[in-house]
Amino acid sequence: MKNSVLIAGAGPVGLTMALELARYGVPVRVIDKIPEATHSSRAVAVWPRTLELLDRSGAAADIIAIGNKVTVANILSGGRPVASLSLDDVPSPYPFALMVPQYETEAVLRRHLAGHGVKPDLGVELLGFEEDGDGLSARLREADGTERSEPYGFLVACDGAHSMVRHRLGLDFQGDSLGLDWTQGDFHLSGYPFPASQMAIFWHEHGPLLFFPMAPDRARIITSLGPSTATPPVPLDQDAFQEMIDARGPGGITLTGTEWVSAFRINERQVENYRSGRVFLAGDAAHIHSPAGGQGMNTGMQDAINLAWKLALVIRGIACAPALLESYDLERRPVGAQVIAASGRMTRIGTLADHTLQHVRDLVAHTLMGLSPVQRAVTGLMAEVSIGYPHSPINGPSHGDAKAGARVRPIMGEVPFGWGDTPLFTARGGAGATELAARFPRLVATSPRPSSEEPLLSLVRPDGYLAAQVQDANWQELVPYLQQIGAER
Ligand SMILES: Cc1cc2nc3c(=O)[nH]c(=O)nc-3n(C[C@H](O)[C@H](O)[C@H](O)COP(=O)(O)OP(=O)(O)OC[C@H]3O[C@@H](n4cnc5c(N)ncnc54)[C@H](O)[C@@H]3O)c2cc1C
Repeated sequence: MKNSVLIAGAGPVGLTMALELARYGVPVRVIDKIPEATHSSRAVAVWPRTLELLDRSGAAADIIAIGNKVTVANILSGGRPVASLSLDDVPSPYPFALMVPQYETEAVLRRHLAGHGVKPDLGVELLGFEEDGDGLSARLREADGTERSEPYGFLVACDGAHSMVRHRLGLDFQGDSLGLDWTQGDFHLSGYPFPASQMAIFWHEHGPLLFFPMAPDRARIITSLGPSTATPPVPLDQDAFQEMIDARGPGGITLTGTEWVSAFRINERQVENYRSGRVFLAGDAAHIHSPAGGQGMNTGMQDAINLAWKLALVIRGIACAPALLESYDLERRPVGAQVIAASGRMTRIGTLADHTLQHVRDLVAHTLMGLSPVQRAVTGLMAEVSIGYPHSPINGPSHGDAKAGARVRPIMGEVPFGWGDTPLFTARGGAGATELAARFPRLVATSPRPSSEEPLLSLVRPDGYLAAQVQDANWQELVPYLQQIGAER
């Protein structure tokens, strides 16, 4: 159907995309070539901004119920404390990093998706696609081996780092490898010297050792192996991991069981454009980077949330502005670049080989991280709450202190922005907000939350970023803005 969306890939990003579109009433088919859902843990951290955005579909509470809340990140070097970063002050209803295996996050997303009547079709592979005038034709191999073509309005490629769609479009995946091999695993353990609410990074002269606790006796552990060679990296087994932990860790930690181990090389790459006509790329298909900081899955899920409401408005015929769909690449590509740069920086800092530089690093980090503005900047970056779209083409006028494109902090217990079955902008203000919502009933709803900055009128996007802000009495200033974006009553 020309008004439906094909989502290639049912990983965390494809599932988030499907959930957002399905709850906004857009027909979707989500496919994955794997015959059944994987049980490898992969991403373990879900950060505050992702939880805020998942609250809009109701999924956040279910993920929180099964995860371990981490509120402190300790950094130590040569056994001495360098810094202790607290997430308590992150300005969010969720001031913690939630540690939960990726397959469990995916399971929650699948459950919520099922609530909207959508089930991923597993064992179905996208073989190719061709755009025609007002849609595209996708060539699929179904689970029974038959091949056929199906018409769709749009294709969203959530098909991972080796994206077939990206290759087929001939899009460059610019970047490089970092040159070090790594190994990681999920282990049962005893003797971890911090509470389960605290993660730990041990900088060591031969390479860092990272602990992400998932329970008091279970953690994701990552460590570097050394410079990459011609052969692919091989994961350490439990005994070899134990030796690394004894050498690089604080002592006293004993591994008591292994759930899963893997080895990897860090690539830092980003696609040159997140869109090609009716095809959009999201998640690992668009950007890959160091797992330091655990941002990969989170950034991908936020790509999906950014795109979904825009696609839903267009497909449902509520909005037609080309700028709406164009803004996806323009908003999300800079965010991807920022995440690649920040996670690469963290990795390079943690893997400095020169002893003098290691010493300088420890001193500088100790001094800087002791300053609360630096702490706030670092935790804001990790939590992804400082992400905004200040240069977005769909930003409207903003005359107040807040700038268009900035995240609007959600309040616990209040109806989240973009909640419900239509991607509505929220107008917060006085009488002007009511007038505006009446003028654009398919696009704008008033907020039950009174504006804290009376007499300002804030217009908030369905994904919780400020679209515009004017004096409430001047609400008509927003009429041309909304006319550009969507249809009037
Ligand atoms: C070992 C490892 C550890 C990681 N650790 C972390 C971490 O700690 N923190 C973090 O944030 N991130 C981590 N990541 C990254 C994280 O797992 C990814 O960012 C995340 O899975 C990306 O989700 P995605 O949905 O974009 O892609 P994927 O999860 O890769 O899903 C893509 C899906 O597309 C399917 N597919 C591919 N081609 C086709 C096709 N032609 N037709 C149909 N289906 C297709 C694949 O089968 C796959 O299921 C880790 C990754 C790995 C590999």
